[in-house]
Amino acid sequence: MKDKAVYVRSTGASPYKFNEEHPFSPLRAELAETLLEASGALPSESVLEADTALDQELELIHRSEYIKAVRGLSLPVPPASAAGLARRFGLDSEDTPYFVGMHDAAAAIAGGSIAAAEAVMSGRARHAFHMSGGLHHAFPGHGSGFCVYNDAAIAIASVRQKHGARVLYIDTDVHHGDGVQYAFYEDPDVFTYSIHETGKYLFPGTGFTHEKGIDKGFGACCNVPVQPYTEDESWLECFTETVTRVARAFKPDLILSQHGCDAHAYDPLSHVHCSMRIYLEMPRLIRQLAHELCGGRWVALGGGGYDQWRVVPRAWSLVWLVMSDHPLAARLQEPQGRLSPLPQAWLDRWQPQAPATLPRHWLDDTSAWAPMPRRSEITVQNRQAWELASQDF
Ligand SMILES: [Zn+2]
Repeated sequence: MKDKAVYVRSTGASPYKFNEEHPFSPLRAELAETLLEASGALPSESVLEADTALDQELELIHRSEYIKAVRGLSLPVPPASAAGLARRFGLDSEDTPYFVGMHDAAAAIAGGSIAAAEAVMSGRARHAFHMSGGLHHAFPGHGSGFCVYNDAAIAIASVRQKHGARVLYIDTDVHHGDGVQYAFYEDPDVFTYSIHETGKYLFPGTGFTHEKGIDKGFGACCNVPVQPYTEDESWLECFTETVTRVARAFKPDLILSQHGCDAHAYDPLSHVHCSMRIYLEMPRLIRQLAHELCGGRWVALGGGGYDQWRVVPRAWSLVWLVMSDHPLAARLQEPQGRLSPLPQAWLDRWQPQAPATLPRHWLDDTSAWAPMPRRSEITVQNRQAWELASQDF
């Protein structure tokens, strides 16, 4: 098999939208997908349409009473008990309010992540990308942080059940991947790794270095909390030093990664100050580790990312360019390729609707950015964190 990659589309995911004001919008995936199309990087033979997840698949992670409540709260006319149900199951908050069609949309997202994992485990493809997935905050019995069903955890549980494979989960969203971590906290065969802005300042307030798993799962969990205002150099040092050690120590059969792109300086919901550079380097390293350690078996999901115009389309497209070995991914690595322009057709299509000027290039010109005043102090603090996080590996 060539180094084939599949792009998984979960059509039923597009109604996953809380309300007009909510930052988690399905437009994000559309913007990214159209950027790939305009770049000539998404041939139709790479696309796989996924089925929606079955209840028995959702139940690999979620409690049946929760699934039943999500169904009830998805109706155009919710049951009389809706207010109580929503409160009990974490679906009454401003972050994660229930909406019409919620169950079907969230189950479609879970189906996409299962299909991506299955494409890789069955040998149909070496890599798979499901951009609409990565809802890493959902718990077995309650929704949280914009997440209703935890498609990442469901896909991992499905791989465990069908193939018995050891899975390394790599979460690069700026928020701690709490839902996935706790789903496998006692499991020695699922390693959960998360690099994120420290929970001291950011939702969900967990993901400290001392969280390492419990019982048989102790040692199969690694958290790398970074400081607010962390920039590219220090972020990449933290990521490279830790994820490489963890992956080599754990020796996975499959890597499943979550690509929330909210650690970018433009993101409105966090304080980390990275550029598009990390969103090129990070998938490159994950891909390299997958080839070194597990026959290239790599599944990537989307996740957070709330500058939907300037950041998300580029960041998620980069995951796919790296995964599919597109020549542009190599060109962006070269000094003269750093200012490769975005396709004009994409800019022309979306600029009229965008509230901000769209970037012209794939990568950011950080020479125009003011360095963070506490850069050296932050670098030292981050170094202490990654040394502590990786001391066992
Ligand atoms: Zn996030």
